[in-house]
Amino acid sequence: MPRVFSGIQPTGEPHIGNYFGAMRNYVNLGEEYGKNSLYCVVDLHAITNPAAFDPQRLAQRTFEMAVANFAVGLDPQKVTFFVQSHVPEHQELSWIFTTLTPVGELERMTQYKDKSAQLESVPAGLLMYPALMAADILLYKADTVPVGEDQTQHIELTREIARKFNHAFGETFPEPRAVYNRDALRIPGVDGNGKMGKSKGETSTIGILEPLDSIWQKLRVAPTDPARVRRTDPGDPEKCLIGDYHKLFSDLDTIELVYAGCRTAGIGCIDCKKKLMEGVTAHLTPIQARAEDFKADPDFVRDAIAQGAREARALAQPIMEEVREKVGFLKL
Ligand code: SF4
Repeated sequence: MPRVFSGIQPTGEPHIGNYFGAMRNYVNLGEEYGKNSLYCVVDLHAITNPAAFDPQRLAQRTFEMAVANFAVGLDPQKVTFFVQSHVPEHQELSWIFTTLTPVGELERMTQYKDKSAQLESVPAGLLMYPALMAADILLYKADTVPVGEDQTQHIELTREIARKFNHAFGETFPEPRAVYNRDALRIPGVDGNGKMGKSKGETSTIGILEPLDSIWQKLRVAPTDPARVRRTDPGDPEKCLIGDYHKLFSDLDTIELVYAGCRTAGIGCIDCKKKLMEGVTAHLTPIQARAEDFKADPDFVRDAIAQGAREARALAQPIMEEVREKVGFLKL
């Protein structure tokens, strides 16, 4: 049975870019692969970048990320959902992988170059990040990894590490393949400045758990097609982020109505945005209600995460046993 692994950064409240780009896909893959789909909140990765790491909020953000994923429909009974630091085998395998990975290859990683350029003192953990990521995936012999295209280099390195290990110690790991969800790259920020992303601040994002009136305030002032200077000017919904959002949130009839209305100046931008808000409300209200239910029952969330760690360890431990034996560690 193929096995899927995906790491989720504990960045607190996810936005609709995360939802349409990754989380919804997790739910679908979970239906298909069941317990062989593993979703891991990667808190060990989160501490590698001192610029983004806040120890006061890490536990809370990890918890919130679990709540958000459960709220969008990821069922911890059906999939394996856990927190990276609860499965210490990730670190053990990562260490072995660092011994197989040339420093030069790690230094060539684009993400490392970008992040380290912003730091005065670069922690070794930031350099080792891709070895830990390779361990995350290969610890479960996962062969399918849903990622954004910015992770291509890391997946290539994971394949390389798998090949090196297999060559040095005998056939052990599959070479995993990346599965891209290209929608993630096309969701524009609500401030009109490129792709939606947390690093650009909350003015660019629409949180899936954000209060609806706050979302409306952002949509109300969001830029539209600059060709529509006056209400009577026709526009092009393909050149407007509100047009893009309609494709995510509105039904086909509404999309046809507002697209035609925009092109003929039959609808004003505020009315078009109100139509969009109806779709946003219909989409996010049940998710937000479920999130409130989970927050009101933190023991359920904690128990689900603890159970996920037990399930993940049950998969990881025999593979780690195999690795230890092949590497030649003394077994007592
Ligand atoms: S009518 Fe809608 S799609 Fe067209 S420019 Fe205005 S907000 Fe954008």
